Formats: sequence, C-alpha cells, structure tokens
Amino acid sequence: MPYYCYEHLQESPRCEHHPGFEVEQPIRDLPLQVCPWCGAPVKRVLGASLIKSKNLDCELRDKGFTKLVRVDDGLYENKTRRPGEEKYVDRRRPETLPRLEKTIRD
Ligand SMILES: [Zn+2]
Repeated sequence: MPYYCYEHLQESPRCEHHPGFEVEQPIRDLPLQVCPWCGAPVKRVLGASLIKSKNLDCELRDKGFTKLVRVDDGLYENKTRRPGEEKYVDRRRPETLPRLEKTIRD
C-alpha cells in the first residue's frame, strides 16, 4: 500500500504528529480530512502519493528535500540527514542547520 503525507493546516502544538505525518492507505481511500490523533484539519501533501515504500525520508533526501520533525521548541530532528549534518537542528545554533549549499546542485 502506498504511503501518503499529510500536513496540519494549523498549529497543533499538542499533537505529537504535528506538523506532518505519513499514513499507509489503500489507493482508493479518500484523503483524510482530519488528523487521526488530534482531530485537527489536515491536507494531503502533493507529490507523495506515488511513493510506495517506507523509505520516504530517503526518497525526499534524494530529491533534495530536507525533512525536519519538531521535537521541542526550536529543536527539530533532521530526518533526511546527510553525511556531516547534525541529527538535531537547533534554531539557536546555526551550525546545526542543514547545509543547503551542499544540497542544491545545478
Ligand atoms: Zn494532529
């Protein structure tokens, strides 16, 4: 079954799956309208619907995306960490931010 990515439409600080999550769903299922955990409105994120593997983070990374998951105020886990990048991104520590100049290639 394919995995779909969803994003909360608004801040949902108490939801552990904020800002986004992945759901395994049959293709014919309608998109979720609300977060299964907190009930807040969500939208399906385009581009992920054809990805049929659990290695979504790897695919994002290969496409040049960086996926950050908020773990605390101002602290994010870098799910698409590349060699040399920190596992956790701290907004207050610029040296932990993903190295975009190494990611973006023409
Ligand atoms: Zn939620």
